[in-house]
Amino acid sequence: MNRRQFLGTAATLAALGAVPRAFAAAAYDLVIKGGHAIDPASGLSAVRDVAIAGGKIAAVADKIDAGAAQVVNAAGKYVIPGMIDVHSHAGATKDGPALNVADGVTGYVDAGSKGAANIDDAVAVVKAGPQTGRILINIAKPGVTGGGATGGELMDINNADVGAARAAIAKHRDLIIGIKARLSANVVGKNDVEALRRAEEAAGSLPVMIHIGQSASPLSQVMGLLKKGDIVTHLFAPPPEAIIDEAGKILPSVLEARARGVWFDMGHGRGGHFRWDMAEKILAAGFLPDSLSTDWTPEGRVAQFVDLPTVMSKLMLLGMTLEQVVACTTSNAAKMFEVFRGKGTLKAGSPADVALLEMRSGDFEFLDNYAGKRTAKQKLFPAGTVLAGKWIPRA
Ligand SMILES: [Zn+2]
Repeated sequence: MNRRQFLGTAATLAALGAVPRAFAAAAYDLVIKGGHAIDPASGLSAVRDVAIAGGKIAAVADKIDAGAAQVVNAAGKYVIPGMIDVHSHAGATKDGPALNVADGVTGYVDAGSKGAANIDDAVAVVKAGPQTGRILINIAKPGVTGGGATGGELMDINNADVGAARAAIAKHRDLIIGIKARLSANVVGKNDVEALRRAEEAAGSLPVMIHIGQSASPLSQVMGLLKKGDIVTHLFAPPPEAIIDEAGKILPSVLEARARGVWFDMGHGRGGHFRWDMAEKILAAGFLPDSLSTDWTPEGRVAQFVDLPTVMSKLMLLGMTLEQVVACTTSNAAKMFEVFRGKGTLKAGSPADVALLEMRSGDFEFLDNYAGKRTAKQKLFPAGTVLAGKWIPRA
């Protein structure tokens, strides 16, 4: 580049708070300076500089003064691993993946938006997206078809077609990493247990994610069908068939499922999945979520869950620590699917996916799925993303 182009680039980067220096002989591509780094996988929560080179985390240290092509000033911000949203529907919206990157989400799982009949739609969106996206195929051929008066995709149990799901997985083995089954009565009627049985048959050793809450069959029967590595989403869903009883005790079948390696995810969503009092009771019983997820849709992005940092802020209002909610969207989420192993951490040598968050003070109104309002004095906001080593400022 010539001098004018260089100055132009320098001015642009300076305006974004990113100052280029030592282009010629930089030790690092990017250094994120002065932020409070939280990396649950290595037990780190302290002010650190984070250096990036060649698309990998190169170093995390008190002070990194070696030359860098680009420096991001993160003073007053939190620097965490790029977040992984394990229950999203970003694969059902053309610009969904890019919107998620802007919110600090560098990996996501589209959880059952599409089934065997329309899976190619989700495959196209996920392939075109900037970050690592993967798909849980809906055991129901048409994918999510809603609920309510007409009922959802599994009211006709013939939609749960094991052969069709298996053929779709075989065709898109690189992107489809498991199966989703929505088991609420408004989706599946009384077919919940049979739908799950078919989902497990189609999945084989792949994980199955089930959506619980307000289902027809006893939850213990459903839990009994889950294997290690399966995921229960909507753990804060109200009865019927919640994970906690009237007396505030977690159901034995739920504790047994967790003990054998079944994961419990939040799946904030918009209807029927999250009520303040249920979350309070479940946390008070000592049953913490393994992961926090949005159940992302464009509609939910402008109301209710908004983004993953907002969901994390809600759980902090309920008593979880910052380090715990960060673990739920990074290191824990990375354990749940093979494709994310080695991500969700700031350890040297890891992929350079990083999210910057800013904690602001004020009066923030938070909603559950039942129009319940709570006011918080602090809220986390997305403040920039590094994806595969490339700094993406918050617009
Ligand atoms: Zn969902």
